[in-house]
Amino acid sequence: MIKMNMNNLYRQVIMDHYKSPKNKGLVNDAGYLTVTLNNPSCGDTVFMQLKLEDDVLVDIRHEGTGCSICCSAASVISDVLKNKTKADALKILEEYHYLIQGKEYDKELLKNDLIVYEGVSQFPARVKCATLASKAVEKGLVNKEE
Ligand code: ZN
Repeated sequence: MIKMNMNNLYRQVIMDHYKSPKNKGLVNDAGYLTVTLNNPSCGDTVFMQLKLEDDVLVDIRHEGTGCSICCSAASVISDVLKNKTKADALKILEEYHYLIQGKEYDKELLKNDLIVYEGVSQFPARVKCATLASKAVEKGLVNKEE
C-alpha cells in the first residue's frame, strides 16, 4: 500500500514537470553549449543547453518533443543540476543512470526528484526515454572537459 502511494506521488511529480516544465526554451547565446539527442524507438528528441561558469552549471535550458517520461526528465534534470558544479552534476547523472538500470544507487543524492524515475527500470523500453536528457547533459559536460 505504501509502495502504491509512493508511485502515485512519483507519477504526480512527473506529470507536473511534463505540464509545467522548468527551464524550458532555448536561448540564442554563444555562451551555451547545445547537445541534441534522439531516441528513434519512441520518437523523442531533446536539446539541452548548458552554461558553465568557473565549473558551475549556472544555467540549463531544454527543448524537445517526446513522451511524458522524456520531456519531464529534461525538466527535472535541468532543475536538479542547475547551480551544481560539473563534478557534482556528473556524480548525480552517474547515480541516476544506476537507478534507471535498476542497480544500487545513492538514495540521498537522488532524493530531490530524480528518484521519481525509480520505476522506469522495470520498463526496458522506457529506459532510453528517461535517460535521453541526462545522457545529453553528460555528453556536454564530458566533451567540455576534453
Ligand atoms: Zn519516450
